[in-house]
Amino acid sequence: MLSLEGHQLTASSELVTKHRILVVEDEEVIRNMVVMALEEEGYQVTATGDGRKGLELLQSNENNGSNPNFDLLVLDLMLPQVNGLDICRLLRYQSNIIPILILSAKASETDRVLGLEVGADDYLVKPFSMRELIARCRSLIRRQGFSSLSTAPVRKYRDVFLYSQECRVLVRGTEINLSPKEFRLLELFLSYPKRVWSREQLIEQIWGPDFLGDTKTVDVHIRWLREKLELDPSQPEYLITVRGFGYRFG
Ligand code: CA
Repeated sequence: MLSLEGHQLTASSELVTKHRILVVEDEEVIRNMVVMALEEEGYQVTATGDGRKGLELLQSNENNGSNPNFDLLVLDLMLPQVNGLDICRLLRYQSNIIPILILSAKASETDRVLGLEVGADDYLVKPFSMRELIARCRSLIRRQGFSSLSTAPVRKYRDVFLYSQECRVLVRGTEINLSPKEFRLLELFLSYPKRVWSREQLIEQIWGPDFLGDTKTVDVHIRWLREKLELDPSQPEYLITVRGFGYRFG
């Protein structure tokens, strides 16, 4: 198992906190099955069949600031009025980094890719088994776990400040704009300064075990992060390449 450190930390946090999941699915039979399965696993579940209502529940997060209402969103794609893709897009546009698992009847590769493009973290095609659903939910919550563990909402390294709950990053006093993946990468690096991460470990932590692409994706995201963080991206001071191993921060 990769990243033992992260897993141990998360395991202990799971004992004390009950994770909250929002399910947005308009088909009542599926919704009830999903809710029952997740509740049996010990999750605290809120469910709605209405995309608009789902958004309202999620956006009320913003108002109560430091403590988001949900740890994971399970989201159907085909919903009346506001569809799942638009919900994803809107949440990411608002810099909401809640993990999102899409449920969909669409199996084609383009739909899967489209779901991930608009900022979903994972994708499950109907019909799916409840065991599969639970495994995916658990993995998404665990991956996000490292960010909710810290009692300090600010992570800092020299003049890089990351505000987890506000999804903001300041570098040398200036705010920079990061994509959700870049933000999570940086958050992970700042959570474990000086730790060397292999590309495979970064894929596992940020993209998840079911990621289809190759490890070059990591290099591309590191390059983008460097362009935003470093004074001279060709001579990085923060995101250091450790030849033969991977990357470390600081
Ligand atoms: Ca539907």
